[in-house]
Amino acid sequence: MKIRFNTEDDFAQRIEGFIQENVSLATYNTFRFDYSAEYFAIAETLDSLRDLLAWAKLNHKTVTMIGGGSNLLISDHVLGLVIINKLSGINVREHSGNLVNLTVAAGENWHQVVQFAVENGWYGIENLALIPGTAGAAPVQNIGAYGVEIKDVLSRVQVINKDTGDVYWINGRDCGFAYRDSHFKGQWKDVLLITSIELSLKKQADFQLGYGGLSDRMDGIPDLQSVFNTVCRVRNEKLPDPAVLANSGSFFKNPIISQKQHAELKLRFPDLVSFPFEEGFKLAAGWLIDRAGWKGAHFQGVGVYEKQALVLVNYSENDASALLELEDKIKQSVYEKYGVSLEREPVQLPVVTEIVE
Ligand SMILES: Cc1cc2nc3c(=O)[nH]c(=O)nc-3n(C[C@H](O)[C@H](O)[C@H](O)COP(=O)(O)OP(=O)(O)OC[C@H]3O[C@@H](n4cnc5c(N)ncnc54)[C@H](O)[C@@H]3O)c2cc1C
Repeated sequence: MKIRFNTEDDFAQRIEGFIQENVSLATYNTFRFDYSAEYFAIAETLDSLRDLLAWAKLNHKTVTMIGGGSNLLISDHVLGLVIINKLSGINVREHSGNLVNLTVAAGENWHQVVQFAVENGWYGIENLALIPGTAGAAPVQNIGAYGVEIKDVLSRVQVINKDTGDVYWINGRDCGFAYRDSHFKGQWKDVLLITSIELSLKKQADFQLGYGGLSDRMDGIPDLQSVFNTVCRVRNEKLPDPAVLANSGSFFKNPIISQKQHAELKLRFPDLVSFPFEEGFKLAAGWLIDRAGWKGAHFQGVGVYEKQALVLVNYSENDASALLELEDKIKQSVYEKYGVSLEREPVQLPVVTEIVE
């Protein structure tokens, strides 16, 4: 499927009716920073998305897609066309054995997809309940929680090429999934948008209860609904609801360090929280920040959440400058105390290009 490059007036009139200029993005990011999009549109169908891409190409505008805005750090006005993803629809294919395939349009709310699976008795994504945002953004950073990542159940991803308008499927195993990472965050970032995802779920139980104290929090024999309820309860206890207190979830990734560095740190900090990971260890970034004295800190109108030091919150700021300053202070103090560099998890918009002297 190709973009129809139609320069006739009817195309221009039709598409320009959908595009607004200079629109505030404050309600389109969960940090609620108030920057504007130069051009702004909402895509509800694949056809309208294709037309918007054609308009952007004709007018030499870059395209940025936003889903729920729950993994974004918008720190300036965004040039070009910002498209809010509202593509909707879920399609179910039940197979005779243990398998069921869900094809989910990218603009569907992720938590509602999890609820839908749980209500129907399909296993595989219950640990990913209450993660805000859209289904289409879930593969971008390979969302994960309580020992499960979306890559574990993601069979295919449907994409549209921003430049050519081609729509096609990519196998999950070719998407470069890693801890909070994928090609959609890297080499495909400027080229592909996700329009749909296909999940491969099971009809029989296969629980992952070994992480985050889930099994200790369950009463009786676990079933799908009780696992889902427990995940929701635990998350509600320790994470702020962005509708109440502006935040973007974990602000830093859990750092991965070598066995040697881990052994040295463990000697200095015997209660260090860490997990074996691939060749080395993953550290709990929240623990590092907490023990460096930041939990509950306030800085200008932003701060570190009082119940979970991994989450930075925005109490009152309209712009991101105080948060960026707080981020630097935390990174510096963690590095000075442990020799560990923290990496930001949310995606910064507009993309900041480092100037090499
Ligand atoms: C309270 C809270 C708790 C959270 N807990 C977790 C957690 O447990 N685990 C976890 O992994 N994450 C967590 N997150 C982060 C966030 O919810 C996820 O990363 C989510 O997948 C982001 O979805 P979104 O639609 O809001 O994406 P956005 O924030 O809108 O976009 C994120 C990035 O993806 C790009 N993007 C969005 N849609 C598309 C698309 N269709 N195609 C291509 N690129 C796209 C955007 O351009 C941007 O670069 C949490 C966030 C909050 C606020």
